[in-house]
Amino acid sequence: MKRITVLTTGGTVAMRADASASGAVPQLAGGDFADALPRNIADTRFEAFSNLPSAHFTLEHVWDLSRRVAALVANPQVDGVVVTHGTDTLEESAYLCDITVDTLKPIIFTGAMRTASELGYDGLANIAASMRVAASDDARGCGTLVVFNDEIHAARDVTKTNTTALETFLSPEFGALGRIDLGGVIIARQPTLREFVPTSRLELNVHLLKLAVGMSDGLLEYLVDTVGGRGIVLETLGGGRVPPWWLPTIERAIKQGVTIVIASRTGAGRTIDRYGYVGGHRDLAQIGCWFANGLNGQKARIKLMAALGTSDAKSYFQDE
Ligand code: ASP
Repeated sequence: MKRITVLTTGGTVAMRADASASGAVPQLAGGDFADALPRNIADTRFEAFSNLPSAHFTLEHVWDLSRRVAALVANPQVDGVVVTHGTDTLEESAYLCDITVDTLKPIIFTGAMRTASELGYDGLANIAASMRVAASDDARGCGTLVVFNDEIHAARDVTKTNTTALETFLSPEFGALGRIDLGGVIIARQPTLREFVPTSRLELNVHLLKLAVGMSDGLLEYLVDTVGGRGIVLETLGGGRVPPWWLPTIERAIKQGVTIVIASRTGAGRTIDRYGYVGGHRDLAQIGCWFANGLNGQKARIKLMAALGTSDAKSYFQDE
C-alpha cells in the first residue's frame, strides 16, 4: 500500500457552523477526516500545518507550506502528499509548489465548497479522490495537481471560476488532465507546460493590478513611487494591451528597476498580438515588459515572486 501524508491547512473543508462565531469556522482536524475516510486507499498519515481560512494566509504561510511539502516528498517513507486548503487562494499555493518542489511524487491540493454542517458536504469525497490520485503511479511526474469534483487539473492551468459552485475549479485554456471514476484514476494527458523555478525565497514586494476601460494609471504610480514595488503584474486588456497613457509610467517604472509582467485580465491565453496601434504587445515588449505566457494574474505574481528570488529572474519569462 502507498504511504500518503495529508497535510491539513484549514479552509471550508475543515469548517463547521459555530454559534459563537455566527457562521462556519475551521474546526475539523486530521483525526476527524481519518475517522470518516476509507482505510483501503493508502496507508495515510495526517499532519496539521494550520487551521486557517485561506484569506488569512500570509506569503510566509504560503512559502512555508511549499517548504513543508518539499520536505515531505523528500522523505523516502512518503509516496505522495495531499494538501487540504481553502479554495479562495488554493490555486496560488498549489502553483507555488508546482514551480518550486522538484519531485516525481504526486502532490495533490483539494478542499471543499460546502462546510461539514451543510447538506452535500464535498470535503470527504474530494479528500478520498485526492488520496486515490496521490496513490496512483499514473500521477507520478505530473507536478502539483488540483483534485476537485472528481476532476484532476494541473496546478498551472486551474483556477477558481465560481464563488459557490461545486464545479468551481476549471482549467479554462486546456481543460482537465483527467478524472477519478469508479474504476480508478484516469490521467488522459500530461502537463507539458510545467516549469521549475529553483528559488530559496520569495520576493514579497510584488503586486497585482487589473486594468479596466479608461482607467487612470494612478495606482501604478502609487505602487512605483510610494510603495516602492519590486515587481508588478498588470492584468492588461485582451491579449496584452494598455491604454496609451499608461505607457510612460510603465516605462519609467522599468527604468527605475521595477519588473513589469504583462498578464491578461481574460484569465487564459498568451499575451501576444499583431497590432500596430499604441499600447499593444509591440510597445510593451519594446519598453522592457516581461510576459506571463498564459498564466493568470495571481499565478504570474507567484511566479514573479519566485523568479525574483533567483539571480536570473528574466530567464523564467521568455518573450512570447
Ligand atoms: N473561505 C474559504 C477559504 O478558506 C473558502 C473555501 O475554502 O472554499 O478559502
